[in-house]
Amino acid sequence: MNISVVVPVYNEEENIIRLIQKIKPILSTTPGNHEILFIDDGSKDKTYEVLQKCSQEDKSVKVIKFLKNFGQTAALNAGFRHAKGEVIVTMDGDLQNDPSDIPKLLEKLERGYDVVSGWRYNRRDPSLKKVLPSLIASFIRRRIIGDKVHDSGCSLKAYRQEVVKDLKLLGESHRFIPLILQLQGCKIGEVKVNHYPRKFGKTKYGVKRLWNGLFDILGLIFWHKYGTKPLYIFGAISLFSMCTAVFVVLYVFLIAFLQGVRVSVGPLLLFSVLLFLAGIQTFLIGIIAEMQTRLYYNDKESYTIEKMLNE
Ligand code: UDP
Ligand code: MG
Repeated sequence: MNISVVVPVYNEEENIIRLIQKIKPILSTTPGNHEILFIDDGSKDKTYEVLQKCSQEDKSVKVIKFLKNFGQTAALNAGFRHAKGEVIVTMDGDLQNDPSDIPKLLEKLERGYDVVSGWRYNRRDPSLKKVLPSLIASFIRRRIIGDKVHDSGCSLKAYRQEVVKDLKLLGESHRFIPLILQLQGCKIGEVKVNHYPRKFGKTKYGVKRLWNGLFDILGLIFWHKYGTKPLYIFGAISLFSMCTAVFVVLYVFLIAFLQGVRVSVGPLLLFSVLLFLAGIQTFLIGIIAEMQTRLYYNDKESYTIEKMLNE
């Protein structure tokens, strides 16, 4: 079994060598070839220089250097695309994950899972800034779309290469790759892993992570439910809006008729005009979304095949 360890790094100069020294002995206990693929996500410190040196000394250390900082999600995406192993292990480059957990992940993966996700049951991050928001986010994910994983924000994960090779990750959606894969029908496992406080360098995420995460998840829910048929949701909202408008108009006319007075242009009538226009707008947005979707699926299928016989 060939293993690729994929590590996105952004300004982690002090951590690189220490990390390689921890990963190598673990990988050498596993059969097959291995590589450690670093994605230097536009670091401004000496990260790239350190990586360059390490890759000269050790051919199994590979490096992809981004032109600028594109974010951890993009870095992982590049890692998935270029990793050569049949198994891809991802982890952070800041020593918060423990490479000695890798064999546990691999063992579970071998038992027939497509993804095995680490669970930092003893998470060592500031609780108010990180742990609490991430608990709330995972509660919402579990309730709304049935995410099965406890700690999908944990970077330490193992994947069968096929399931992530063509994954298209956008925004900061690396935080819920297991959910994305679960929605595609993959089998997801979980393993408790160690977690350590960050010793060198700084965290790259601030409070913006909260609402970015919310919009990522809203986008995912929308895509999952209506991605192939946006007009179902936009059409329904539009229909509801227009029907309400018609009812309000009828109501205004009926009241005027019963009172034997002429219909006057009051707030209710204006409200119904507004509703009607909103309905038309929503419908038009739906049409545009529908056209986008058709373009998106132009050269892709909207399903994934598990198996084919006599292919
Ligand atoms: N990272 C990256 N690009 C970014 C932000 C972060 O490659 O734009 C890397 C970072 O170097 C680290 C990992 O992603 O290896 C996780 O980042 P960090 O430790 O800052 O996240 P936290 O653990 O604080 O959630
Ligand atoms: Mg970290």
